[in-house]
Amino acid sequence: MKEECPLCGAESELHFVPYKIPFFGEIMITTAVCSSCGYHTTDVMVLTEKKRTRSEMVISSTDDLNAIVIRSPFGTIEIPELYVSVEPKRGDAFISTVEGVLNRVEGVVKMLARDVEGTAKKRAETVLEQIARIKAGKASMTLIIDDPTGNSAVIPNKLFFSKDSFTKGI
Ligand SMILES: [Zn+2]
Repeated sequence: MKEECPLCGAESELHFVPYKIPFFGEIMITTAVCSSCGYHTTDVMVLTEKKRTRSEMVISSTDDLNAIVIRSPFGTIEIPELYVSVEPKRGDAFISTVEGVLNRVEGVVKMLARDVEGTAKKRAETVLEQIARIKAGKASMTLIIDDPTGNSAVIPNKLFFSKDSFTKGI
C-alpha cells in the first residue's frame, strides 16, 4: 500500500504486519518507509477492542531483559526504581526489548549527566550505576506500561515468539 510521505510528499511504502499474541490479542504493526527521504514511522494497533491497561513485569535476570515491550503512541513507560517515566509521544510507537528501553533511558540520563552539576549529577550517576547492575542481572526493576487505549504491553520473550504468535511472517 502507498501513502504520501508527511516529510517530503513522495509516495512511501506501507507495510502491515499482523501478530497474534496469546493472552493479548491480535495486533497490527504498520511501518511506513519513504524511499526518497528515508523517513520512517511505526504504529501499533490492537485489533481487538481494549480498555485501559496497566501491564507490568519485574525484571530480575538477564533473560528478562529480552522481554518484548510494545508501546503505542499513548503508552507511558514507568520504571519506579530508576525514577523514570517516559511520556507518550504522537507517532512514537515502538516494539523493542526491555534492554532496548533501558538503552534509551541510559542515553538520555548520560546526556543529562553531562549538563548538570552537584546533587543532580550525583543522582544521574547513581541511576547509571543502577542501570548497569540491572543489565548485569545483579539488580531488579519493575517495568510498567500504562495505556488508556490498551495498546501497550510488556510480554515475556518466550510468549511473544511462541509458535502461534505469527499469523503471517514479516
Ligand atoms: Zn519522504
